[in-house]
Parts: sequence; C-alpha cells; structure tokens
Amino acid sequence: MAKVAFLGLGVMGYPMAGHLKNKGNHEVTVYNRTASKAAKWVSEYGGRTSPTPKAAAEGQDLVMCCVGNDNDLRQVTLGPEGAFQGMKRQSVFVDHTTASAEIARELYEQAKKRGFAFVDAPVSGGQAGAENGVLTVMCGGDAEPYARAEKVIAAYARMCKLLGGPGAGQLTKMVNQICIAGLVEGLAEGIHFAKKAGLNVEAVIETISKGAAQSWQMENRYKTMMAGKFDFGFAVDWMRKDLSICLGEARKNGANLPVTALIDQFYSEVQKMGGRRWDTSSLIARLER
Ligand code: NAP
Repeated sequence: MAKVAFLGLGVMGYPMAGHLKNKGNHEVTVYNRTASKAAKWVSEYGGRTSPTPKAAAEGQDLVMCCVGNDNDLRQVTLGPEGAFQGMKRQSVFVDHTTASAEIARELYEQAKKRGFAFVDAPVSGGQAGAENGVLTVMCGGDAEPYARAEKVIAAYARMCKLLGGPGAGQLTKMVNQICIAGLVEGLAEGIHFAKKAGLNVEAVIETISKGAAQSWQMENRYKTMMAGKFDFGFAVDWMRKDLSICLGEARKNGANLPVTALIDQFYSEVQKMGGRRWDTSSLIARLER
C-alpha cells in the first residue's frame, strides 16, 4: 500500500483513481480543477481531496496525473500551485496525459533537478479500458522509479512496459495513434463500399472478421458505424490533438506519414460537420454526407 495522489478526474482519471483505491488499496488523495468532481469522487470511493496540485502532491510516494494536453500538464506541474512545488524527494510523478515527447523530457529534467523522478505513461484502451482497469500503459523514464510505479499502475493496467528513456512512452503512444488512424479510415471505406454494393454488411463483417481484415476497431465499432452512432469513446478533438503531436514529431525525426496527414485532414472535415465530440469512427459520416 502506497500514499498516492491522482490529478485530473476526467473520463479517464476518475475510474483510474477509483481502481487505486478499490483494487490497489492505496491511500488516495485526489485533485480536480472543478472541485465538485473531486468531492463526488470522495463520496463514491473515500480518500480525501486537495485544493491544489501542490497540496495534493505533498508527502506522497507517487503522484499520477491525467489532464488534457501539454499546456494543461505544464499548469498542473510547473505552475505556482503545481505539483512539482510539493513533491517529496525520491517520490515518482507518473503522467498519463497524451502529450508531446518534448514536454516529457522537460518535466523529466525538472523532476531530476528537484530530487524526484518523472515517468511519461500515456494510455490506450479508452474509457472502457479505464473503467474495467485493463489499460495498456506505455512508459518512458528510468528503470528504478518505473519499477515502483509499475506496481501501483497495475491497479488499472493489463499491460505496462518501460520502452526507453524520457519521452519513449509518448513516442510509443504516437505509434499507436498512427496505426489506428489509417485503419479506421479503411474500415469506414469498407463498410461504405459494402453498403453501396448492396451487400448485407453484418454478414460481410461476420465473415471477414475471421480473416486477415480482423481488427479491434472492426470487432468493436462496425455495428455503431453502420448505425451512424458516434458516442462510443475517444473524441475527434482528442484525436486531432494526438495526430498533431505525431505530425510534429515526424517533422523532427524525418518519418514519412502521408496517410496520417490525410486522415488528420479528414477529421478536420468531421469537426466542421459538427463532430468535435463524436468518436473517431465517425470518419464514415464524412463518406456518407
Ligand atoms: P477529460 O474527460 O476532458 O478530462 C480532462 C481532465 O483534465 C479533467 O479532470 C480536467 O479538469 C483536467 N484539466 C484539463 N486542463 C486542466 C488544467 N489546465 N488544470 C487542471 N486540470 C485540468 O479528458 P480524458 O478523456 O480523461 O482524457 C485525458 C487524457 O487522456 C488526454 O490527454 C487524452 O488524450 C488521453 N486519453 C483519453 C482517452 C479517452 O478515450 N478519453 C483514451 C486514451 C488517452 P476539469 O474537470 O476541471 O475540466
């Protein structure tokens, strides 16, 4: 049992923090910018709230965090009331935000200077993965603090791995998003084509999902895509944030991402159709306008 704080009780953070309490049996303190959410969390799980990230971080063995983007992360860590002002020496800050590799390296250095460790640890598995405690966690940082963090992360992860030094977790998450982007467009085009061809889409997917075209997206999203229902998880706005991080990194490392760049443009069209909060399978809506 460890003393742990969790910063950011959004769609992901709220159930993740819950698993730290219920499954991990840790002593949990939560912070959320909108305080009412933190109060609700405590009424559901117990534990305690803190008014600022700094106060939440004080005296903890580990501080976990899951906020929106680089700027949010900078505010909750390095801001005047940020967690880095309160971290105990030898403790570990674990960041689950999907952010850039640059900010991960910057926060790693800042943490080192102040005598504690930083592990970048973005996640995959969506809202359902967080609620069921079966996330995939991709980590970057040093081996010894990672080993301490891994034991605590286990409360909400099915797979957790250290993939290299600072930033390696974020780089791995970029690979994850690059792999998903083109795949979802392929699935959207396949379903769209099957409909136009007058096929029974259900029967088509049932058949081809047993062959080489099978994917998580196919198994979990084809029914809702066929029905034009897009409220099943990861939002288009978040995906565009992630793809912009991927494309920015590719400009620096020289990788060619032509399909990823194109899909990013397709998602911008979905946003213009009113789909900012639709889930990422809404690429099919663009084909069927
Ligand atoms: P969300 O529901 O919008 O929650 C964001 C959380 O961050 C909220 O608790 C919010 O506080 C807090 N926050 C944002 N900016 C802040 C700031 N400047 N200062 C303090 N707190 C701030 O987002 P989410 O879906 O949980 O996603 C969180 C992260 O996980 C993102 O990086 C996302 O890309 C990644 N992710 C999400 C999914 C998914 O399926 N949702 C899957 C994989 C990865 P308030 O309550 O006050 O707004």
